[in-house]
Parts: sequence; C-alpha cells; structure tokens
Amino acid sequence: MIIQRVVLNSRPGKNGVPVAENFRLEQSTIADTLQAGQVRVKTLYLSVDPYMRCRMNEDTGSDYLQPWQLAEVADGGGVGVVEESKHENLARGDFVTCFTWPWQTVAILDGSSLQKLVPQLVNGRLSYFLGAAGITGLTALLGIREKGHVAVGANQTMVVSGAAGACGSLAGQIGRLEGCSRVVGIAGTDEKCSILVQEMGFDAAINYKKGDVAKQLRELCPGGVDVYFDNVGGDISDMVISQMNQNSHIILCGQISQYNKDVPYPPPLPPDIEKIQKERNITRERFLVLNYMDKQEASVLQLCQWIQEGKLKVRETVVEGLANIGAAFQSMMNGGNIGKQIVSVSK
Ligand code: NAP
Repeated sequence: MIIQRVVLNSRPGKNGVPVAENFRLEQSTIADTLQAGQVRVKTLYLSVDPYMRCRMNEDTGSDYLQPWQLAEVADGGGVGVVEESKHENLARGDFVTCFTWPWQTVAILDGSSLQKLVPQLVNGRLSYFLGAAGITGLTALLGIREKGHVAVGANQTMVVSGAAGACGSLAGQIGRLEGCSRVVGIAGTDEKCSILVQEMGFDAAINYKKGDVAKQLRELCPGGVDVYFDNVGGDISDMVISQMNQNSHIILCGQISQYNKDVPYPPPLPPDIEKIQKERNITRERFLVLNYMDKQEASVLQLCQWIQEGKLKVRETVVEGLANIGAAFQSMMNGGNIGKQIVSVSK
C-alpha cells in the first residue's frame, strides 16, 4: 500500500534554529497484509512538541530520548483509528494513541503499543488526547501535584513561564484549581497575555518582550513567589527565582529557551541565582512526566472532568496536512499560537 510519510531531512546542528526544511515529505509503502498482533491505523492527529528539538540532534543529551535518524520517518504523540486488526483487544473503528506514532498517513503498528481512547471523555475532540487530556495536561497536573507543594488555603502565589504554551496555559489554571490564590503568567505577546487573563483566569500576565519584567513581577507578586512552574529557563527564570520566597518550590518542567544550545539538561543556574536558591531553600528537582505513568489513568479522568465542567479552558491550533508538519514544528519552536499545536492528517 502506498502512503505518505515525513522523514528527517537534515539536522539543524546542536546550536542551530530548526526550520521546516529539516523535514521532508515523501511517498513510501507498507505491507498489504498484517502479522498476528499487528493493526493498520489511519493517522488522524500528530503532536509537535519542544522535546523533539533534542531528537533532531545526533545525540539527544538525554537517556530517555532516542535521536531521529536522517532519511528515516519521524515519530511522536499521535492519535488514529484502526482500519484493520490482528490484535485481540483492538477492532476496526477503535480510536487509539501512542507516544511513538510514525509521521505517516497510514501505519502498521504493534497493537500492544497502543492505548484505546474513549472519545466521549473529551466530547469527541480526539486531538485533546494529545494536549489537555494527554501528555501535556498530565505534565501540568502531575508537575504541580508532585513538585509544587500546592495546598488549599495556603495563600500561595504561582508564576508560570511559557504561560501561553500548551503546558503553561493549563498549569496556571490547574494551579488555581489546586488551591493557589494568585496566578501570574509570563508570555511573549500582548494578545497571549490578554487571553490568559480574560479567558483562562490568570490574575495577570506579563509580556516578557516589553518593559521591565522584574519590576512588573515585583508589582504583581507583592508577597513574593511561592510556586514557579518553569517551562523556559534562562533569563526569565533567573528573574523569577530572585523573587521567590523562603522554602518555595520550582516545578522544573522544561527549559525551552535553552533547547537550541549545546548545554546539559537541566542547565545549571548562574552562580548568583544558585546562591539565592540554596540560601532560600528553594526546591528545584527534575520533573519528568513519564516517571509518573502509574497515575496516568486517574489523572486523565480528572483532566477530562475539568474540561467537561468548563473549569479547564483549552486552546489549540490545528494545522492541516502532513506536508505542513515541519512548518508547524518551526512555528511552535518560535512561540506559535496560544495553547497546543496539532497537525491534522488526512489520507
Ligand atoms: P509550547 O506549547 O511550545 O509552549 C512553549 C511556550 O514557551 C510558547 O508559548 C512560547 O511562546 C514560549 N517560549 C518559546 N521560546 C521561548 C523563549 N526563548 N523564552 C521564553 N519563552 C519562550 O510547549 P509545551 O508543550 O507547552 O512545553 C513547554 C515546556 O514543557 C517545554 O520546555 C517542554 O520541553 C516541557 N515539557 C516537559 C515535560 C516533562 O515531563 N518535564 C513534558 C512535556 C513538556 P512565547 O515566547 O510567545 O511566550
């Protein structure tokens, strides 16, 4: 059977900025018949995520990420529908997902690598299983629960960097739902800041590309910062950490501002900021959502419940067509739109 697929065309270089041309669409073939245990799936949605930048390097710098190989098909989070099954637990018409979905229109996959989805949980919005009801939502929720030390009634102020991104926009809302009394976001445009406040219930948002960010942060967090959900690292994080309280907590979710640099993960803090962190006993433990998959099922149900109740507002940008996935990735790495960036794939 003839299919379309997207392969890694070139590497951006460890310190390079990725572009759409690092990927290439090509025609390929898959077998016409299935082996026992296999299913043929039609791809519906693919996710583009910041961690993929590391997979574009020959060495990802991380023990849990494998590099993509040149001229070979890329992969990541995906959702699709079973067209034919030789796996006992899957049938034609089932909706399924996995973290290693190949970037191709149709694929033959091992049925045991797939998780069955219940579309009713997200009112039929299947793409949500890659975002708010998938790994992104889990990252926000479990990051807060495992590393945030958020408690109802503790009058905590949370700051979120990368606040308009897929994780950040959920993290601020979940911080509030879990008990924070004040939530302040940091994002890259006035429009994003205004959506965070008007639609997603943040108390305030700072455009980090404008004005004196440290001063605005001091004004907006007069009691200091108790919980910092860090998506970006670099100068923004140094500024936030300087304003954190004694015995406060950093949720070390990601460091997107450093991903085009050849530095270790997590990048060490500058000495003056590290001194503050140590003196104020600020926790900054590494957080990796994949280490908490035993909590996946209950956490997805919680996220879906909040989505259905309208307590969690979800934004996503859906780019049409597998041919545009490289451009979607490039746009996401340059800030993208508010919320999750998804590619919709049709045959
Ligand atoms: P995303 O949707 O692309 O959001 C990232 C946000 O960061 C964007 O809204 C972007 O917009 C902002 N940003 C990009 N470059 C920036 C820079 N140089 N300085 C400041 N802000 C910048 O990505 P995501 O899926 O939410 O992921 C967010 C972070 O979580 C990433 O670091 C990712 O690696 C991490 N993550 C971690 C785990 C885990 O298990 N720990 C799991 C999933 C994701 P603006 O610049 O316009 O504000």
